[in-house]
Amino acid sequence: MTPRLVLVLGDQVSVHVAALKAADKSRDVVVMAEVADEAVYVPHHPKKIALLFAAMRKFAARLEAEGWRVAYTRLDDPDNAGSIGGELLRRAQGVGATEVLATEPGEWRLIEVLRDHPLKVHVLEDDRFLCSHAEFADWAEGRKALRMEHFYREMRRKSGFLMDGNQPEGGQWNFDHDNRKGPPKGLSGPVPPRFDPDAVTDAVLTLVEARFGHHFGDLRPFRFATDPDQAQQALDHFIAHALPSFGDYQDAMVRGQDFLFHAVLSAYINAGLLDPLDACRRAEAAYRAGDAPLNAAEGFIRQIIGWREFVRGVYFREGPGYAARNALGHDRKLPPVYWGAETKMRCMSEAIDVTRREGYAHHIQRLMVTGNFALLAGIDPHDVHEWYLAVYADAYEWVEAPNTVGMSQFADGGVVGSKPYVSSGNYLAKMSDYCKSCAYGVKVKTGPDACPFNLLYWDFLTRHRDRFARNPRMAQIYRTWDRMDAAKRDTILSEARTFLDRLDAGDPV
Ligand SMILES: Cc1cc2nc3c(=O)[nH]c(=O)nc-3n(C[C@H](O)[C@H](O)[C@H](O)COP(=O)(O)OP(=O)(O)OC[C@H]3O[C@@H](n4cnc5c(N)ncnc54)[C@H](O)[C@@H]3O)c2cc1C
Ligand code: SF4
Repeated sequence: MTPRLVLVLGDQVSVHVAALKAADKSRDVVVMAEVADEAVYVPHHPKKIALLFAAMRKFAARLEAEGWRVAYTRLDDPDNAGSIGGELLRRAQGVGATEVLATEPGEWRLIEVLRDHPLKVHVLEDDRFLCSHAEFADWAEGRKALRMEHFYREMRRKSGFLMDGNQPEGGQWNFDHDNRKGPPKGLSGPVPPRFDPDAVTDAVLTLVEARFGHHFGDLRPFRFATDPDQAQQALDHFIAHALPSFGDYQDAMVRGQDFLFHAVLSAYINAGLLDPLDACRRAEAAYRAGDAPLNAAEGFIRQIIGWREFVRGVYFREGPGYAARNALGHDRKLPPVYWGAETKMRCMSEAIDVTRREGYAHHIQRLMVTGNFALLAGIDPHDVHEWYLAVYADAYEWVEAPNTVGMSQFADGGVVGSKPYVSSGNYLAKMSDYCKSCAYGVKVKTGPDACPFNLLYWDFLTRHRDRFARNPRMAQIYRTWDRMDAAKRDTILSEARTFLDRLDAGDPV
């Protein structure tokens, strides 16, 4: 029988992906390729490229050991066609194949490459998720607005996680109000396990250094897990050491504490090294054994079967143009501070520094520091989207775009969130210790020392008054503004303009 090609992409390094499950070991040829196109269409963080190439090489070796024929192309292979589409054609000619089995990619860009490809490509839905496209469409059908909380309850019922019969464990679906503690002095979390590079990873690091060393981000030290055993150790560590406090300090930010009690597992889950539902089972088991409180286990499970599944549903439902949306008409260029230019803003320097070193920042840093600043400053959401896609080791468009374009920049006009996530410096002062060592004063509202978030917050709300003043969750904020002394309001707006002019001119801020 003519062999078929079985395409396995870098974020599909799991024996459970649909294309492998549908393939025939005795007939088909697995195709895996390290291609330049995928590494540079945005300048991905060197750690992210290294993680994927190392995980791919190890996965290919495992498949071969299990009896698969694997056609693996290394980046420096002289015959490398440079793109996924090109590699499929080259390999098809090599083995005489005319058909390809593929698991649906997580980006419309690649889905279109496969759909328009000269070979016959069978794209199978990625079933590593709890909710299929059809189920999400059924759930969304006829709803005026898609809200994560309602979707999450469906997923709780469907999965059975933390259920007591047909009622939620503890009598509540959501314990989020318990998960907003500010950090007490000296708060520190466990350091996630680090893995010394083996020979496979070392070879990848040398290659990535030579080819992509100029991308934003530190390649070394590189300590990521690159195979399922190591990723499992990272999960074990999280469940034993961080989960118990995950809920309480989920929104906290502390200087010098890169991870606090976060899982630091998203890069592994999204690549296929860890099963997200297995992580949820482990969190539930820890709660049932009395090793983690309910607000921690529920909070963690909600992030995975709630948010993670919800944003995926939104991405595929909203279609290929989603990442280009710009509902607020923002058009400012992404300022150099995002690429590491010096800044006096402690919160921004902390969030961008961990991003550069680790290809990671935790959720509140992404949402309420770098995301909040970009939204308040009116930065083009497409620039913001490309930045997040490039700099985080866990970023693939299906998960990154709804979080950035939707949740963080409100550029989808309210599909993911019902109101924009904006705040003045007050929120950051409450949830972090950053303001204590900042050159700006968080309590200062005007003048050269005023916290930029304080100025930009009101400027943003004023610019978008027509859109947000009628939102019942924001009306009170506009009342506060209207009660403010008129001269003070003028000063705030004029100082915000001056700050934005300096940002545009590339001056240090
Ligand atoms: C602007 C912005 C961009 C983001 N881009 C990405 C991205 O490219 N890839 C990505 O995986 N997450 C993204 N997120 C969501 C979230 O910030 C990360 O999943 C989380 O920080 C990963 O770190 P962790 O493993 O320590 O997560 P934890 O905080 O410990 O959470 C546990 C797990 O829940 C899941 N999760 C939590 N929040 C979300 C969410 N909002 N959406 C989807 N899954 C979630 C992840 O799998 C994560 O590993 C983004 C959030 C924002 C605000
Ligand atoms: S004072 Fe303002 S700029 Fe400085 S850390 Fe606090 S919120 Fe950030």
